[in-house]
Amino acid sequence: MDIAAPVEEIKGIGPKTAELLRRAGIFTLRDLAYYLPRTYENFQQAHQISELRPGQVVVKAKVENARLSRKSRGLTIVEATLRDASGAIRAVWFNQAYRVKQLSADKEFIFTGKLEFSYGRYQIMNPAVHLAEDILQQVDNELQAIYPAKGNLKSANFHKFLAASKSYLAQLPDLIPNYPGRATAMLDVHFPSDANEAKKGREYLATEELFCLLLASRLNRQQNEKLRTTPIKADITILKKALARLPFCLTNAQRRALWEILQDMASETPMNRLLQGDVGSGKTMVAALSALVAARGGVQTALMAPTEVLATQHAASLANSFGQDLRIALLTGSTKHKAVLKKRIAQGEVDLVIGTHALITDDTYFNNLGLAIIDEQHRFGVAQRQKLLGKARTMPHLLSMTATPIPRSLQLTIFGDLAVSVLDELPAGRKAISTKVVPQKSQEQMWRDVEEQLSQGHQVYYVCKKIDNTNSSELSSVKKEYERIVKKYRQYKVGLLHGRMKSAEKEAVMKSFSDGRIDILVCTTVVEVGVNVPNATSMIIADADQYGLSQLHQLRGRVGRGDAASYCYLVNSKDAPSRRLREIENSQDGFYLAEVDLKLRGPGEIYGSLQHGALDLRIASVTDTKLVHRADQLVRQFLQQGYNVLKYKELSAIVRKYQRLTTLN
Ligand code: ADP
Ligand code: MG
Repeated sequence: MDIAAPVEEIKGIGPKTAELLRRAGIFTLRDLAYYLPRTYENFQQAHQISELRPGQVVVKAKVENARLSRKSRGLTIVEATLRDASGAIRAVWFNQAYRVKQLSADKEFIFTGKLEFSYGRYQIMNPAVHLAEDILQQVDNELQAIYPAKGNLKSANFHKFLAASKSYLAQLPDLIPNYPGRATAMLDVHFPSDANEAKKGREYLATEELFCLLLASRLNRQQNEKLRTTPIKADITILKKALARLPFCLTNAQRRALWEILQDMASETPMNRLLQGDVGSGKTMVAALSALVAARGGVQTALMAPTEVLATQHAASLANSFGQDLRIALLTGSTKHKAVLKKRIAQGEVDLVIGTHALITDDTYFNNLGLAIIDEQHRFGVAQRQKLLGKARTMPHLLSMTATPIPRSLQLTIFGDLAVSVLDELPAGRKAISTKVVPQKSQEQMWRDVEEQLSQGHQVYYVCKKIDNTNSSELSSVKKEYERIVKKYRQYKVGLLHGRMKSAEKEAVMKSFSDGRIDILVCTTVVEVGVNVPNATSMIIADADQYGLSQLHQLRGRVGRGDAASYCYLVNSKDAPSRRLREIENSQDGFYLAEVDLKLRGPGEIYGSLQHGALDLRIASVTDTKLVHRADQLVRQFLQQGYNVLKYKELSAIVRKYQRLTTLN
């Protein structure tokens, strides 16, 4: 049976079941085969409660008196008594308040977890819970796959469907011609006889997934290499003159990055380079120097930023440094006399156009766009990037910039073969931002310090986590905090900024803050990356322990942009000291912090919304370097041996999807 066949064609799955599956998003044999177990349990080792020994246990029991026994800042405890014919034992769950509802007294459950002696008695800590009727009682294998529930479908249902598909899975052809073993892997994942088999199967499928991702980025790269564009030769004399006029010297990292960019631009193959560097590392300066070289080479540059505030700031600061060398214009939604400006751009009377999405509207034309620069690249979708590139007659050179530190260990999976330049050095004389972890209870002193800054005329960011005060969350609500601060500091102007405001409103508030008309800005994390308000010297981050270190580090980068000493206060919502927060107290190195984050929290947390999520990896993790390496080898082999992906229907459909996700142009 073809892997793309609808689920009805599986013997044992009738039209009714097929409808249920479709509603759960499972249409084909492939969808079902790749619906992988969440975990495995060995229910055959169930124990009588009276015979339990400390360690890993499996108990089949009814529940008495499931209740919330403690609820306080950052911690909820659910307790219950588990009883079978032989006796009773206590079980506890931390921060799983929903268990109270789940553990109804009339049902039988299977619990698996660790029996420990703590707080003076034996209890099972945080056991996994399965409704006994959801678990197949008769299984051939010792290990039972537990599937995530979906809609009305429970683990046991999926178990049945996959059992019905077993004979087809056993005959599944390989997805990748030079990587045999898919059928075995499928059987190992769904019907393992031991944990090792399950792991082996999963690794096979993860490698397969990484192969598709890496092949896609390699094919994108090959396609780019076939494109031709105008080579731009650098005029070193002009560059030297412009550098001499700057009030500072480039850092070595900036020099290196600029050199790499100039080499790329001198080629007929369009540049596709990512410039990665911490906030304040001087990316915009490198971009502007590249634009200068492009202008001397006779082409225009477009620099696209995600917000009006950012674009306006770039335009002002670059006009200041390069006004003599470059004809610079700002094009945003609120630009006056747009038509006149657009005409000048179309006639080639502007060298560097800095703007927002206004750059990619249909009626914006360039005379000769040769270099496209995208600031905060992850804020733009593929379609928007493509639109900008489409403004050029031939493919322009592309420079993407980002402040999100991507640990080197992740670069291969996240960016494939993309060329990357890294600014790993801050300009000299930059003052470290004095960072302090503040326990929830001792905020008074912090506010006194902040008041001192305010009284000197400085401004403050106060970052809170949530917009509304939902009853389930005890995190600070930005609106509630805003009202409190307004009342507390009547002598200061307080502003509010959060994600649910219209973008025009957000821009207006940000502009007031940047013009000094707001003293205290109560905000969520929408507060712009890259925005520059040198007079803002303090930042308070409430519930700081709820964020990743990379995010905290980027937020913190909003302060420390002027000559005055700057402060960042990380308010810990938990009573216990946090090792993670200590790390950021002691380090100002974005790359180091990203690596620490990666170790302590895994990639999903850090790159969840950005690259990781966008890559749509379901099985593999981008951090599994061993598998990434294996997949990379397979891709090289695949290409060297001259396989043509188009000849493989299933594979080419998947690879095409990844190509769209990973393309930068
Ligand atoms: P990024 O975009 O990487 O956050 P910017 O390019 O905005 O950083 O630079 C931040 C500030 O540092 C700007 O005011 C810029 O003029 C200044 N700057 C850039 N390069 C240097 C340098 N080599 N030495 C001193 N200051 C610099
Ligand atoms: Mg920037």
